[in-house]
Amino acid sequence: MTVTTDRPASTETFDSLDPATGEVLARHPIAGAEEVAAAVARAREAAAWWREQGWKGRRASLRAWRTELAGGIDDLAELVHRENGKPRADAILEITLAVEHLAWAARHAPRVLGSRRVRSGLLAANQVSLLEYQPLGVIGVIGPWNYPVFTPMGSIAYALAAGNAVVFKPSEYTPGVGVWLGEAWRRAVPERPDVLQVVTGLGPTGAALCRCGVDKIAFTGSAATGRKVMAACADGLVPVLMECGGKDAMIVDDDADVAAAADAALWGGLSNAGQTCIGIERVYATDRVYDAFVEELTGRARALRSGPEAEDRSYGPITMPSQVDVIRRHLDDAVERGGRAVVGGRSEGPWVEPTVLVDVPEDSAAVREETFGPTLTVTRVPDAEEALRRTNDSPYGLAGAVFTRSARRGLDLARRMRSGMTSINAVTAFASVPALPFGGIGDSGFGRIHGGDGLKEFTRAKAITRQRFALPVALTSFTRPEKAADQLAGLVKLRYGRGRRRP
Ligand code: NAD
Repeated sequence: MTVTTDRPASTETFDSLDPATGEVLARHPIAGAEEVAAAVARAREAAAWWREQGWKGRRASLRAWRTELAGGIDDLAELVHRENGKPRADAILEITLAVEHLAWAARHAPRVLGSRRVRSGLLAANQVSLLEYQPLGVIGVIGPWNYPVFTPMGSIAYALAAGNAVVFKPSEYTPGVGVWLGEAWRRAVPERPDVLQVVTGLGPTGAALCRCGVDKIAFTGSAATGRKVMAACADGLVPVLMECGGKDAMIVDDDADVAAAADAALWGGLSNAGQTCIGIERVYATDRVYDAFVEELTGRARALRSGPEAEDRSYGPITMPSQVDVIRRHLDDAVERGGRAVVGGRSEGPWVEPTVLVDVPEDSAAVREETFGPTLTVTRVPDAEEALRRTNDSPYGLAGAVFTRSARRGLDLARRMRSGMTSINAVTAFASVPALPFGGIGDSGFGRIHGGDGLKEFTRAKAITRQRFALPVALTSFTRPEKAADQLAGLVKLRYGRGRRRP
């Protein structure tokens, strides 16, 4: 793969590697603070042009970009497969979702953000009141490697559709995917390539993006890095959107379809080698279904294929080498403290076996911390209430799932789950609904991508009033008649003060 860019490249570089083999895939420049600042300055100019294009013009450009992504899906999927390690089929699914979101954002931006009249109310009956959502200007997007297309596109597509220019810093583990997205934009909108620019590099390049005058940072990554990003943004009062990690749980209730729950838990926990922020890491199954659930789950887990020799792999290697140490620590700690790996538990190099752990104490790392590997803990609980209590006892609050045949019970549990998103009788279903917001609470972050909320995240609400005529009694003028305040008090009492209890 060759990487082309007409920007003056930094002399420092880094390599992107195939996580399965360690082979060097490409060499990328490390953008320094000056280059990042120059990209932001170009983006600022481009943002003015982008804003002038209006909804129609922007939609046409976004459609042209969408065409590039959809038409190039095979090349992009191959690149995602090579840099991240996930199977090609999973890469296609990820890109498809991103394309859907891009289409939704472009189509719905005028309705969600466009200028509208709102009621002026009694005190301002002489005013026409307008509300509109204006773009912020230049958005810095800092992305992770686990879903290198879908995840950053949740910010990029919505920020662009809302009328902003974007400077994107992809993860150092998947820089080629970021460069590909930027090049696709240049082909789609050759008249203004600077509306979306990509700067490659390591952590310091991301830090530089926080400090060079962007109007907002949309960060996706670990909570630990998120804290650093917030600290860097604090100096310039730069607002931030935080999409951080998770420790999502699935609740399997007494009346659940156990086979469906096991199938979903396995996909939610082990697809993409478990490197899914909204993936399932813990399962709480009620006493009544626990044994049947574990039997279904282990049978299915044993049928999964992974490892260097496996053909048609169910999932790939661990993308980031240092994550293997985290996974290993969680597995060893779980077993040392009385847990059992009823399936898997071993790892070799970047390959981790499909792993199902039972009897793991609640205060162990495998239950408390984000593992980000192809592992699941399954815990027996007396009932769904206890499952919910344990689910909610986590610093994270990204997503989760509930399995029950009762629609009412499912909704009740979903509402009370301390998370930004919950699927009933499925996993991660909300991520494929463009109209729904995506984001977490607690250590999982704040702010929302996707849907109308995701569009508004990249705007500022602007209020405008136009006076149509002067009121007979001008209340906000020094010419106000003496009795006006008393008349107003009378009016307020009449309208809101009837039925008052005397002191
Ligand atoms: P990470 O925090 O290591 O890195 C994320 C990005 O931040 C990378 O581009 C990195 O170069 C950059 N970065 C590193 N140091 C920085 C600094 N000091 N200032 C600015 N930028 C800096 O995360 P990761 O390992 O790439 O991604 C995995 C994490 O992301 C997991 O915790 C996962 O749960 C989370 N994630 C969350 C979501 C979500 O939507 N909530 C989606 C995907 C991944």
